[in-house]
This record gives sequence, structure tokens and C-alpha cells, in this order.
Amino acid sequence: MKNIFENIISKIKTNNNFVITTHVNPDGDAIGSELALARYLTSIHKKVKIINCSATPDYLKFMLNSKDEVVEFNKEYHTGFIQNADIIFTLDFNHLNRTEALEEFIIISEATIICIDHHEYPENFENISLIDTKSSSTGEIIYRLLKQAKLEITYDFAVPLYVAIMTDTGSFKYERTTSELHRIIAEFLDAGVIPKIIHQNIFDQGSANRIQLLGRAFNSLVIDANGKLAYMKISSKDLIETNSNEEDVEGFVNYTLSIKGVEVGIFFFELESGFKMSFRSATKVPVNKLAAEFNGGGHFFASGARIENEIMDETIPKVIDFAKEYLQKYFN
Ligand code: 5GP
Ligand code: MN
Repeated sequence: MKNIFENIISKIKTNNNFVITTHVNPDGDAIGSELALARYLTSIHKKVKIINCSATPDYLKFMLNSKDEVVEFNKEYHTGFIQNADIIFTLDFNHLNRTEALEEFIIISEATIICIDHHEYPENFENISLIDTKSSSTGEIIYRLLKQAKLEITYDFAVPLYVAIMTDTGSFKYERTTSELHRIIAEFLDAGVIPKIIHQNIFDQGSANRIQLLGRAFNSLVIDANGKLAYMKISSKDLIETNSNEEDVEGFVNYTLSIKGVEVGIFFFELESGFKMSFRSATKVPVNKLAAEFNGGGHFFASGARIENEIMDETIPKVIDFAKEYLQKYFN
């Protein structure tokens, strides 16, 4: 692993133009990792642009030092950056279609592609791969890379890295929350991070509409498979009637696992064309394999998939059948 870090650091030192991107619907790990890496590159006088296929969700904007520190891809303005990049960093995903509108431009680019990620089952589109599935988050890997590059972790790095690790560990409770990880977090606190302020920014700045929407999700709750399966859904109609948007459903799926006895939780979310699913597992069912049945992926305990051109309510029974099969196979 050390060699890959050194290899990436030497690539950084010997090149000048960098683009950083992440997956559609970016979360705290995605944006936090991008910011920390970009700030390091800027600090050593490299040219860097963070370009994502999605806009930055409102709840993560407090981390930005300027409005355009992270931009949403616009063909007219940003293809030049991708064409001229020496290196493209792809962070927190390992299937290129998760970059949506950027995908075709990354494919034709001559840049060296460096993937830094912590998910299983990579597609291997990249030239250099730093995928560590044992890491809690991409942010944790970026932290190690920056330490290896002898960077002093000041406040500007500590905030996005704290956010990356905190959001991907469910506020430091998932199984990759080790004592070592807490020692890393301690370093961020020493650099000036105040947990209460970060948590308020992330969790306590939602809209009242979001709570209305959550109410609709709760109303849709179904318990199945003798109490081992729970699922909820939000339709486009729910979204319009509560004046909410896609980012408002972040975290809804986790409520399914708050029910005693539930082993697999699913959240369905209708999109303009098709729908999105989030899967969560309490103990034994590998939901990344379940998501892979629908061309999705993710982690053992948390995964997702997007389905295009199918009607959500028509496909839900098929997904539920698969989920029950997985429960039978893995949970007895
Ligand atoms: P969430 O349910 O929070 O949107 O996603 C949970 C995890 O599932 C993410 O961290 C990501 O690893 C994975 N994931 C979500 N959606 C997709 C998808 O459409 N495709 C793939 N390959 N993975 C996904
Ligand atoms: Mn992540």
C-alpha cells in the first residue's frame, strides 16, 4: 500500500493540471475527500478543478471556501479542463457510469486516471488504483495520502476530512470505527474542528419540508418477511407536494434498521426516469450483492442502485422477492 501512496505522490509532483471528480448525488465523504485533496494540490501550486456531475448538496456547502471551489459539470465551460488534465482523480466510487454526464469525457481523456476509493468489486477503469476496502471512508485514505506527503493537517484540511469520515461511519458507529480512527479524529480536533458545529451544519439545517417528506416515507412503511424486511418509498408526487428535492431523502433508509428485528431495509425513491434504491443490512445479509442484482453496488452493510426506464411501483415486488431470497440464504 505504501508504494501506491508514493507512486501517487510522485505523479502529483511531476504533473500540473488536475481534475477531481466523484459520484452522482455526492455525500459528505465524496465532497470532503475532494476538498482535502484539492486544497493539498493548491497548496503545492498545482492547478486543480473539482468538477462533479451533480450539484453540491446544500448541507455540505458550509465546507466550501468559495462558491466555485466545487462546480457542477457544464459541457460548455468544463470539457476543456478535462481535456487538458494531466491527471483525473476519481474519488469514492469505482464504476465510471456513476459520473453520469462526465463519463464520456473521462473515457476520451488522455489523462492518467487515479481512483481512490473504499468500495468492493471495482470495474478497473483507472490507470492507478488506490482502493482500500478496509478503510472507513475515502476521506480516511486521503488523510493517509496527505500524511505520507508530509502535509501538516491544518483546519482547512481537518474540516472536510472530519466530515468525510464522520458521515461515512454513521457518526463514528459503523464497524470500521477503530481506536486508530478516533486518533485521526483527535488530530482534526487539535487542528480546530468543533464537532458540535460540524454536526449542527450537517444534521440540523434541514428544511421543514424535509420532515414532511420523512412523514410520507414513514406512512409508506411496509414490514415483510416475518419482520426481517422493512421498506419505504417516496414518489415524485410526494416530492412535488412537499416542495422537496432529491437531497432531502439522504439518510431516510437508515430508519428502517431502527426497527427491532429488521435485518434488511430498503428505501425506494422515484426519479424523473426510473428510480433509486438504497439498501441497508443489520448483521448478515450482504446488500452489496443484492444491489448488484440490479447493476448497483456498495458495501456489505450499505448499498444502492439506480434503475432507468422502469416504473417504481411495478418493479418493487421484484426487488422484494430478491430481498427475501437473500434473507433466506444469509439469515437463518
Ligand atoms: P446510499 O443508499 O446512501 O445512497 O448509498 C449507500 C452506498 O451504496 C454508497 O456509499 C455507494 O457505495 C453505494 N451506491 C449507492 N447507489 C449506487 C449505485 O447506483 N451504484 C453503485 N455501484 N453503488 C451505489
Ligand atoms: Mn465513501
